[in-house]
Amino acid sequence: MTNEHQSDANAIANTNQLDNGWIQVKVPLPFSLKYVNAYLVPEQEGSGYTVIDPGLHTPEALAAWEFVLANLGLTFTDIIRIVLTHQHPDHYGLAGLFQQRSGAPVWISRASQQYAERMWGPNRVLADELIEVFRLHGMPNELRQGIKDNLESFVPMVTPYPAVTYMEAGQPFRFGGIDWTTIEGNGHAEGQILFYDEASGIIVCGDQVMPDITPNVSVVPGETEDPLEAFLVSLQQLSKLEVSLALPGHRESFVDFTGRCEGLIAHHARRLDKMVVLLQEQQGAEATGFAMCELLFGGRITLNMHNLRFAMAETLAHLVRLEKQGRVELLKRNGQYIYHAIL
Ligand SMILES: [Zn+2]
Repeated sequence: MTNEHQSDANAIANTNQLDNGWIQVKVPLPFSLKYVNAYLVPEQEGSGYTVIDPGLHTPEALAAWEFVLANLGLTFTDIIRIVLTHQHPDHYGLAGLFQQRSGAPVWISRASQQYAERMWGPNRVLADELIEVFRLHGMPNELRQGIKDNLESFVPMVTPYPAVTYMEAGQPFRFGGIDWTTIEGNGHAEGQILFYDEASGIIVCGDQVMPDITPNVSVVPGETEDPLEAFLVSLQQLSKLEVSLALPGHRESFVDFTGRCEGLIAHHARRLDKMVVLLQEQQGAEATGFAMCELLFGGRITLNMHNLRFAMAETLAHLVRLEKQGRVELLKRNGQYIYHAIL
Protein backbone atom coordinates (compact mmCIF):
# COMPACT_ATOMS: atom_id res chain seq x y z
CA MET A 1 0.00 0.00 0.00
CA THR A 2 1.34 3.43 -0.88
CA ASN A 3 1.66 6.17 1.70
CA GLU A 4 -1.10 8.07 -0.01
CA HIS A 5 -3.49 5.16 0.36
CA GLN A 6 -2.34 4.68 3.91
CA SER A 7 -3.26 8.25 4.84
CA ASP A 8 -6.64 7.94 3.10
CA ALA A 9 -7.24 4.86 5.15
CA ASN A 10 -6.17 6.56 8.35
CA ALA A 11 -8.63 9.31 7.60
CA ILE A 12 -11.52 6.87 7.69
CA ALA A 13 -10.42 4.53 10.45
CA ASN A 14 -7.90 4.74 13.24
CA THR A 15 -7.14 1.49 14.95
CA ASN A 16 -5.10 0.85 18.05
CA GLN A 17 -3.68 -2.53 18.90
CA LEU A 18 -4.12 -2.87 22.68
CA ASP A 19 -1.71 -4.74 24.94
CA ASN A 20 -4.29 -7.45 25.60
CA GLY A 21 -4.47 -8.28 21.87
CA TRP A 22 -7.74 -6.43 21.23
CA ILE A 23 -8.11 -3.92 18.45
CA GLN A 24 -9.72 -0.60 19.28
CA VAL A 25 -11.47 0.72 16.20
CA LYS A 26 -12.28 4.43 16.12
CA VAL A 27 -15.50 4.46 14.13
CA PRO A 28 -16.37 7.92 12.74
CA LEU A 29 -19.45 9.82 13.95
CA PRO A 30 -21.14 12.86 12.38
CA PHE A 31 -21.19 14.66 15.79
CA SER A 32 -18.79 16.82 17.76
CA LEU A 33 -17.78 13.59 19.53
CA LYS A 34 -16.12 12.47 16.24
CA TYR A 35 -15.53 8.79 17.09
CA VAL A 36 -16.99 5.91 19.02
CA ASN A 37 -14.63 3.18 20.18
CA ALA A 38 -15.56 -0.25 18.95
CA TYR A 39 -13.49 -3.20 20.12
CA LEU A 40 -12.59 -6.18 18.00
CA VAL A 41 -11.86 -9.03 20.40
CA PRO A 42 -10.11 -12.15 19.08
CA GLU A 43 -11.59 -15.42 20.21
CA GLN A 44 -9.61 -18.63 20.48
CA GLU A 45 -7.33 -19.27 17.51
CA GLY A 46 -9.38 -19.38 14.33
CA SER A 47 -12.78 -19.11 15.96
CA GLY A 48 -13.51 -15.52 15.01
CA TYR A 49 -14.04 -12.22 16.75
CA THR A 50 -16.42 -10.54 19.15
CA VAL A 51 -17.31 -6.94 18.28
CA ILE A 52 -18.22 -4.55 21.08
CA ASP A 53 -20.34 -1.52 20.05
CA PRO A 54 -19.98 -1.46 16.24
CA GLY A 55 -21.03 2.21 15.87
CA LEU A 56 -23.63 4.31 14.07
CA HIS A 57 -24.98 3.15 10.71
CA THR A 58 -23.58 5.76 8.34
CA PRO A 59 -21.76 5.26 5.01
CA GLU A 60 -18.57 6.62 6.63
CA ALA A 61 -18.72 4.20 9.56
CA LEU A 62 -19.40 1.25 7.29
CA ALA A 63 -16.52 2.26 4.99
CA ALA A 64 -14.23 2.46 8.02
CA TRP A 65 -15.21 -1.03 9.10
CA GLU A 66 -14.82 -2.47 5.61
CA PHE A 67 -11.35 -0.99 5.49
CA VAL A 68 -10.39 -2.27 8.95
CA LEU A 69 -11.66 -5.79 8.30
CA ALA A 70 -9.97 -6.00 4.88
CA ASN A 71 -6.74 -4.71 6.36
CA LEU A 72 -6.83 -7.48 8.96
CA GLY A 73 -7.66 -10.08 6.33
CA LEU A 74 -11.13 -10.54 7.83
CA THR A 75 -14.69 -10.49 6.53
CA PHE A 76 -17.97 -9.93 8.34
CA THR A 77 -18.40 -13.69 8.64
CA ASP A 78 -15.42 -13.73 11.03
CA ILE A 79 -17.64 -11.90 13.55
CA ILE A 80 -19.23 -14.49 15.82
CA ARG A 81 -20.73 -12.23 18.49
CA ILE A 82 -21.86 -8.61 18.75
CA VAL A 83 -22.04 -7.12 22.23
CA LEU A 84 -23.69 -3.77 22.96
CA THR A 85 -22.76 -1.94 26.15
CA HIS A 86 -25.85 0.21 25.73
CA GLN A 87 -28.61 1.43 23.48
CA HIS A 88 -27.36 4.81 22.28
CA PRO A 89 -27.31 5.07 18.49
CA ASP A 90 -23.56 5.67 18.22
CA HIS A 91 -23.00 2.24 19.80
CA TYR A 92 -26.08 0.31 18.67
CA GLY A 93 -26.72 1.64 15.18
CA LEU A 94 -24.68 -0.81 13.09
CA ALA A 95 -25.62 -3.90 15.11
CA GLY A 96 -28.44 -4.96 12.79
CA LEU A 97 -26.38 -4.60 9.63
CA PHE A 98 -23.46 -6.47 11.22
CA GLN A 99 -25.88 -9.20 12.18
CA GLN A 100 -27.23 -9.42 8.62
CA ARG A 101 -23.72 -9.72 7.22
CA SER A 102 -22.29 -12.05 9.87
CA GLY A 103 -25.23 -14.03 11.20
CA ALA A 104 -23.89 -13.31 14.69
CA PRO A 105 -26.11 -12.89 17.75
CA VAL A 106 -26.48 -9.36 19.16
CA TRP A 107 -26.31 -9.24 22.95
CA ILE A 108 -27.84 -6.36 24.91
CA SER A 109 -29.60 -5.87 28.25
CA ARG A 110 -33.38 -5.98 28.35
CA ALA A 111 -33.67 -2.40 29.63
CA SER A 112 -31.39 -1.12 26.87
CA GLN A 113 -33.40 -2.88 24.20
CA GLN A 114 -36.65 -1.50 25.62
CA TYR A 115 -35.27 2.02 25.24
CA ALA A 116 -34.15 1.28 21.67
CA GLU A 117 -37.60 0.01 20.75
CA ARG A 118 -39.36 2.93 22.42
CA MET A 119 -37.02 5.40 20.70
CA TRP A 120 -36.66 3.93 17.20
CA GLY A 121 -38.86 0.86 16.88
CA PRO A 122 -41.84 0.67 14.51
CA ASN A 123 -44.14 1.67 17.42
CA ARG A 124 -41.86 4.39 18.77
CA VAL A 125 -43.32 6.75 21.36
CA LEU A 126 -40.33 8.09 23.26
CA ALA A 127 -39.62 11.17 21.14
CA ASP A 128 -43.20 12.37 21.61
CA GLU A 129 -43.04 11.66 25.34
CA LEU A 130 -39.76 13.52 25.61
CA ILE A 131 -40.88 16.66 23.80
CA GLU A 132 -44.05 16.69 25.92
CA VAL A 133 -41.83 16.79 29.03
CA PHE A 134 -39.84 19.58 27.39
CA ARG A 135 -43.11 21.47 26.73
CA LEU A 136 -44.11 21.26 30.38
CA HIS A 137 -40.69 22.67 31.27
CA GLY A 138 -41.05 25.68 28.99
CA MET A 139 -39.36 24.76 25.71
CA PRO A 140 -40.86 26.65 22.73
CA ASN A 141 -42.75 24.63 20.14
CA GLU A 142 -40.43 25.14 17.19
CA LEU A 143 -37.49 23.82 19.18
CA ARG A 144 -39.50 20.81 20.36
CA GLN A 145 -40.41 20.05 16.75
CA GLY A 146 -36.75 20.42 15.80
CA ILE A 147 -35.80 17.86 18.42
CA LYS A 148 -38.51 15.49 17.25
CA ASP A 149 -37.29 15.79 13.64
CA ASN A 150 -33.69 15.31 14.75
CA LEU A 151 -34.59 12.13 16.64
CA GLU A 152 -36.55 10.84 13.66
CA SER A 153 -33.50 11.39 11.48
CA PHE A 154 -31.70 8.71 13.50
CA VAL A 155 -33.96 5.89 12.35
CA PRO A 156 -31.93 5.10 9.20
CA MET A 157 -28.77 5.21 11.35
CA VAL A 158 -30.03 2.51 13.73
CA THR A 159 -31.64 0.19 11.21
CA PRO A 160 -31.91 -2.56 10.17
CA TYR A 161 -33.08 -3.53 13.64
CA PRO A 162 -31.07 -6.34 15.18
CA ALA A 163 -32.75 -9.47 16.51
CA VAL A 164 -31.35 -9.37 20.03
CA THR A 165 -30.44 -11.85 22.73
CA TYR A 166 -30.61 -10.63 26.30
CA MET A 167 -27.75 -10.57 28.76
CA GLU A 168 -28.27 -9.64 32.36
CA ALA A 169 -26.08 -7.67 34.72
CA GLY A 170 -24.82 -9.90 37.52
CA GLN A 171 -24.60 -12.95 35.25
CA PRO A 172 -21.12 -13.83 34.02
CA PHE A 173 -20.65 -13.25 30.30
CA ARG A 174 -17.88 -14.86 28.30
CA PHE A 175 -15.96 -13.45 25.36
CA GLY A 176 -12.29 -13.12 24.47
CA GLY A 177 -11.44 -16.11 26.68
CA ILE A 178 -12.61 -14.32 29.85
CA ASP A 179 -15.65 -14.84 32.05
CA TRP A 180 -16.53 -11.20 32.63
CA THR A 181 -18.32 -9.87 35.66
CA THR A 182 -21.18 -7.82 34.27
CA ILE A 183 -22.07 -4.64 36.15
CA GLU A 184 -25.13 -2.52 35.52
CA GLY A 185 -24.18 1.13 35.11
CA ASN A 186 -27.25 3.35 35.19
CA GLY A 187 -27.61 7.11 34.84
CA HIS A 188 -26.13 7.64 31.37
CA ALA A 189 -28.16 4.86 29.80
CA GLU A 190 -30.56 2.74 31.82
CA GLY A 191 -29.52 -0.90 31.49
CA GLN A 192 -25.95 -0.16 30.37
CA ILE A 193 -23.61 -3.07 31.09
CA LEU A 194 -19.93 -2.79 31.97
CA PHE A 195 -17.58 -5.79 31.75
CA TYR A 196 -14.99 -6.21 34.48
CA ASP A 197 -12.25 -8.83 34.82
CA GLU A 198 -10.89 -8.88 38.34
CA ALA A 199 -7.84 -10.99 37.41
CA SER A 200 -6.49 -8.53 34.83
CA GLY A 201 -8.18 -5.40 36.18
CA ILE A 202 -9.61 -4.59 32.74
CA ILE A 203 -12.98 -2.87 32.54
CA VAL A 204 -14.99 -2.22 29.39
CA CYS A 205 -16.86 0.82 30.66
CA GLY A 206 -19.01 1.99 27.73
CA ASP A 207 -20.03 5.60 28.23
CA GLN A 208 -20.34 5.37 32.01
CA VAL A 209 -16.81 6.61 32.70
CA MET A 210 -14.77 8.39 30.05
CA PRO A 211 -11.42 10.09 30.43
CA ASP A 212 -12.16 13.68 29.48
CA ILE A 213 -15.85 13.81 28.65
CA THR A 214 -18.60 14.12 31.21
CA PRO A 215 -21.16 11.47 30.25
CA ASN A 216 -24.58 12.90 29.53
CA VAL A 217 -27.17 12.19 32.22
CA SER A 218 -30.67 12.73 30.89
CA VAL A 219 -34.20 12.51 32.15
CA VAL A 220 -35.95 9.83 30.05
CA PRO A 221 -39.74 9.49 30.32
CA GLY A 222 -40.73 6.01 31.51
CA GLU A 223 -37.35 5.33 33.12
CA THR A 224 -36.03 6.10 36.58
CA GLU A 225 -37.20 9.52 37.74
CA ASP A 226 -33.81 10.54 39.17
CA PRO A 227 -31.10 9.42 36.72
CA LEU A 228 -28.44 11.62 38.29
CA GLU A 229 -28.86 9.80 41.59
CA ALA A 230 -28.58 6.49 39.70
CA PHE A 231 -25.43 7.75 37.99
CA LEU A 232 -23.81 8.91 41.24
CA VAL A 233 -24.65 5.63 43.00
CA SER A 234 -23.12 3.72 40.09
CA LEU A 235 -19.94 5.85 40.17
CA GLN A 236 -19.59 5.25 43.92
CA GLN A 237 -19.76 1.49 43.31
CA LEU A 238 -17.43 1.58 40.33
CA SER A 239 -14.87 3.74 42.14
CA LYS A 240 -14.18 0.80 44.49
CA LEU A 241 -13.05 -1.55 41.72
CA GLU A 242 -9.39 -2.23 41.20
CA VAL A 243 -8.88 -1.30 37.58
CA SER A 244 -5.62 -1.51 35.65
CA LEU A 245 -7.04 -0.50 32.26
CA ALA A 246 -10.34 1.16 31.39
CA LEU A 247 -11.64 0.80 27.84
CA PRO A 248 -14.24 3.55 27.27
CA GLY A 249 -16.79 4.13 24.51
CA HIS A 250 -15.12 7.39 23.46
CA ARG A 251 -11.63 8.87 23.65
CA GLU A 252 -8.56 6.96 24.80
CA SER A 253 -8.01 4.05 27.16
CA PHE A 254 -7.04 5.20 30.64
CA VAL A 255 -5.75 3.85 33.93
CA ASP A 256 -6.92 6.14 36.76
CA PHE A 257 -10.44 4.76 36.80
CA THR A 258 -11.14 5.45 40.47
CA GLY A 259 -9.84 9.00 40.12
CA ARG A 260 -12.08 9.58 37.12
CA CYS A 261 -15.16 8.24 38.95
CA GLU A 262 -14.42 10.57 41.85
CA GLY A 263 -13.84 13.47 39.44
CA LEU A 264 -17.25 12.92 37.86
CA ILE A 265 -18.94 12.80 41.25
CA ALA A 266 -17.26 16.10 42.18
CA HIS A 267 -18.25 17.65 38.84
CA HIS A 268 -21.93 16.95 39.47
CA ALA A 269 -21.75 18.29 43.03
CA ARG A 270 -20.33 21.55 41.65
CA ARG A 271 -22.94 21.66 38.89
CA LEU A 272 -25.78 21.20 41.40
CA ASP A 273 -24.41 24.04 43.57
CA LYS A 274 -24.02 26.29 40.53
CA MET A 275 -27.60 25.66 39.49
CA VAL A 276 -28.95 26.65 42.89
CA VAL A 277 -26.98 29.91 42.72
CA LEU A 278 -28.22 30.58 39.18
CA LEU A 279 -31.79 29.95 40.19
CA GLN A 280 -31.48 32.21 43.24
CA GLU A 281 -30.28 35.00 40.94
CA GLN A 282 -33.46 34.86 38.82
CA GLN A 283 -36.41 37.12 39.52
CA GLY A 284 -38.42 35.54 42.33
CA ALA A 285 -35.67 32.86 42.51
CA GLU A 286 -37.58 30.91 39.90
CA ALA A 287 -37.21 29.75 36.31
CA THR A 288 -38.47 27.08 33.96
CA GLY A 289 -36.28 24.10 33.15
CA PHE A 290 -35.78 25.53 29.66
CA ALA A 291 -34.69 28.92 31.02
CA MET A 292 -32.21 27.11 33.26
CA CYS A 293 -30.91 25.15 30.27
CA GLU A 294 -30.25 28.38 28.36
CA LEU A 295 -28.60 29.95 31.42
CA LEU A 296 -26.31 26.95 31.84
CA PHE A 297 -25.44 26.20 28.24
CA GLY A 298 -25.94 29.62 26.61
CA GLY A 299 -28.54 30.70 24.06
CA ARG A 300 -26.52 29.21 21.19
CA ILE A 301 -27.39 25.75 22.41
CA THR A 302 -30.74 26.22 20.62
CA LEU A 303 -28.95 26.25 17.25
CA ASN A 304 -28.14 22.53 17.37
CA MET A 305 -31.09 20.22 18.06
CA HIS A 306 -28.91 17.23 18.94
CA ASN A 307 -26.98 19.21 21.55
CA LEU A 308 -30.12 20.99 22.77
CA ARG A 309 -31.82 17.68 23.55
CA PHE A 310 -28.86 16.52 25.63
CA ALA A 311 -28.57 19.90 27.36
CA MET A 312 -32.27 20.14 28.20
CA ALA A 313 -32.60 16.56 29.43
CA GLU A 314 -29.43 16.93 31.48
CA THR A 315 -30.62 20.24 33.01
CA LEU A 316 -33.84 18.50 34.04
CA ALA A 317 -31.86 15.59 35.53
CA HIS A 318 -30.01 18.06 37.76
CA LEU A 319 -33.20 19.90 38.71
CA VAL A 320 -34.85 16.61 39.68
CA ARG A 321 -31.84 15.80 41.90
CA LEU A 322 -32.00 19.27 43.50
CA GLU A 323 -35.69 18.79 44.15
CA LYS A 324 -35.02 15.42 45.83
CA GLN A 325 -32.33 17.12 47.91
CA GLY A 326 -34.90 19.71 49.01
CA ARG A 327 -32.89 22.58 47.54
CA VAL A 328 -35.47 23.53 44.91
CA GLU A 329 -39.20 23.01 44.60
CA LEU A 330 -41.28 22.30 41.54
CA LEU A 331 -44.28 24.58 41.13
CA LYS A 332 -47.11 24.07 38.66
CA ARG A 333 -48.61 27.26 37.34
CA ASN A 334 -51.06 27.44 34.42
CA GLY A 335 -50.04 24.01 33.19
CA GLN A 336 -46.37 24.98 33.24
CA TYR A 337 -43.61 23.68 35.50
CA ILE A 338 -41.41 26.20 37.27
CA TYR A 339 -38.50 25.57 39.59
CA HIS A 340 -38.07 27.74 42.67
CA ALA A 341 -34.95 27.89 44.80
CA ILE A 342 -35.62 27.26 48.48
CA LEU A 343 -33.65 30.01 50.21
ZN1 LIG B 1 -24.04 6.63 25.40
